[in-house]
Amino acid sequence: DRRLSELPMLPEPERRRLLEEWNDTAREYPELPIHAQFEAQAARTPDAAAVIFPSSPESEETLSYAELDARANRLAHHLIAQGVEPGSMVGLCVERSPRMLEGLLAILKCGAAYVPLDPGFPVDRLAYMVEDARLEVVVSETRLSGLLPSTVRLVSLDASADEIEEHPSTKPEVATSVEDRMYVIYTSGSTGRPKGVEIAHRSVSNFLASMAREPGFAEGERLLAVTTLSFDISNLELLLPLVVGGTVIVASSAQTGDGAALKGLLARYRPEVMQATPATWRLLLLSGWEGDAELRIFSGGEALPRELADSLLERGQEVWNLYGPTETTIWSAVKRIEAGEEIVTIGRPIACTRIYVLDARFQPQPVGVPGELWIGGDGLAIGYLDRPELTAERFVDDPFVPSGENGRMYRTGDLARWRADGELECLGRVDTQVKVRGYRIELGEIESVLGDVDGVQQCVAVVREDTPGDQRLVAYYVAESGAEVSQADLRSRASETLPGYMVPSGFVELETLPLTPNGKVDRKALLALEAAAPAAEAEYVAPRSESEARVAEIWQAVLRLDRVSVTTNFFDLGGHSLLLAQVHAKLYERHPDLTIVDLFQYPTVASLAAHLGNGTGETAAPRERKGRDLARGRRALMKR
Ligand code: AMP
Repeated sequence: DRRLSELPMLPEPERRRLLEEWNDTAREYPELPIHAQFEAQAARTPDAAAVIFPSSPESEETLSYAELDARANRLAHHLIAQGVEPGSMVGLCVERSPRMLEGLLAILKCGAAYVPLDPGFPVDRLAYMVEDARLEVVVSETRLSGLLPSTVRLVSLDASADEIEEHPSTKPEVATSVEDRMYVIYTSGSTGRPKGVEIAHRSVSNFLASMAREPGFAEGERLLAVTTLSFDISNLELLLPLVVGGTVIVASSAQTGDGAALKGLLARYRPEVMQATPATWRLLLLSGWEGDAELRIFSGGEALPRELADSLLERGQEVWNLYGPTETTIWSAVKRIEAGEEIVTIGRPIACTRIYVLDARFQPQPVGVPGELWIGGDGLAIGYLDRPELTAERFVDDPFVPSGENGRMYRTGDLARWRADGELECLGRVDTQVKVRGYRIELGEIESVLGDVDGVQQCVAVVREDTPGDQRLVAYYVAESGAEVSQADLRSRASETLPGYMVPSGFVELETLPLTPNGKVDRKALLALEAAAPAAEAEYVAPRSESEARVAEIWQAVLRLDRVSVTTNFFDLGGHSLLLAQVHAKLYERHPDLTIVDLFQYPTVASLAAHLGNGTGETAAPRERKGRDLARGRRALMKR
């Protein structure tokens, strides 16, 4: 009954407190696109270091504000000469380095929006994004060119360096506005296809101004940037320093997945701020990091457990919990965590942001009562790229904005409740979106990809946490009658289509899927099944060649095992995609052609060593040697 639903359920003073007082967040921010804010800063502090890249333990590359601006200007002129127009979208597919910032700023200077294309993604996924966004130009590097479909024009930063160098270092004359689209970031889609979220400069301008005040970031400060460009929170890391006159220290991709390397960078640069997901903070703690009394720790992207918050509080000056979906621009609520508080909240809305906790009839829930969290304000995305129905479903008119104004609000899918002190507590999801090591995953997307494999009748993915802190994706499936589905097929399909963090680490065949009384798949019952037993010790096969021994040694280090059998699957040994990225980082130097997808496809030491031996310039062990190693392997086995 519509009229009933419009009746205010709450006493007027509480309603006003929830809707108005706790959302009284209006603040001024620059009515300027982000590249223009950077240009203004470059004019104020041309000689200050804008970006530092620790290219090796002894050396680093530094660009001043003036240098970075000049490089981005030249590249922008070059892109315009290649046909990039205001309002268009340009792909950005580069390794982590200062080039990343040059490319990003240059695209914005053209009046275009950037679309991050993570070089760690499978080619199928990159091709999907290129096609979905109808990208014509991608800023990239020669060694990544094989990842991109041949339909796009590739502007290779290295191969075209001389040409780019000839363009003027002054900014191109392009009229840009704070209303322009600034980036499109793809996130997992529940129906099997990722969707692009379109964000305007205005939203980012408000966000950066709000972050500069709280948690706070000031001129002259340094921030260690560790997050991939395809996660929107990287914008805080790269752009907050650049609009206030600070310095970004860009960790390389090998360093970002390696706790010891991050620890080294924190000691080397003593940045004032590092932002990361709880998974990365844990990685750092595991490396034995003892902290830095001046570091301000920003954690976000998934719930911050109390004990992790406590460990971090012992190791830094401040700890902040940051909350927000991609659709409302990076973070929408922040909270400084103090020792001794029982519950880790997400705090209060950031500037120009309104948060509501509503029931199914759009009525605000009283303090303490859970409801769905909705967000309104200047952070709201333009929408989902070319998906008007999906946009209309998730972004609706905001009925609570003060009269005379209009606005929209976004349905987050998060469950939350207000506390009496005006802080928000996050309580989980209302749907099957999950976070694994900080990455946002729609389980439906994995299920749809695996459901398409020949012979699979139905598939359900869940996140198991059999050991606390160790989340793993497991896919349960039922085969069509008479069909044989191999786990290798499923794993290879998943790794060809999905980013590494979405590839299940276990596949379990079931006769039937457990159902709830009303006929839905019973995910709780799946979680209650025994975890798959780890590979049996009896199957141990020692390395049979030098190359197997070398790969085995890397696995042992990454998996923290004393020995690994060369025929056992990486994932059965407790491996997951983040660890696989570490294996990749360790092999990459010697095998520059090796991709993460290859690692998924050769999941045993034996198959990987054989692949490395064939494909990438390393010679396989000669036949007779192999025999000798085999004998040695057997002897080693007998000794144990
Ligand atoms: P993403 O779009 O990848 O930033 O993911 C957004 C989702 O991550 C939110 O809707 C929440 O479910 C979750 N999330 C992000 N930050 C936090 C946090 N600090 N605490 C709890 N959940 C979070």
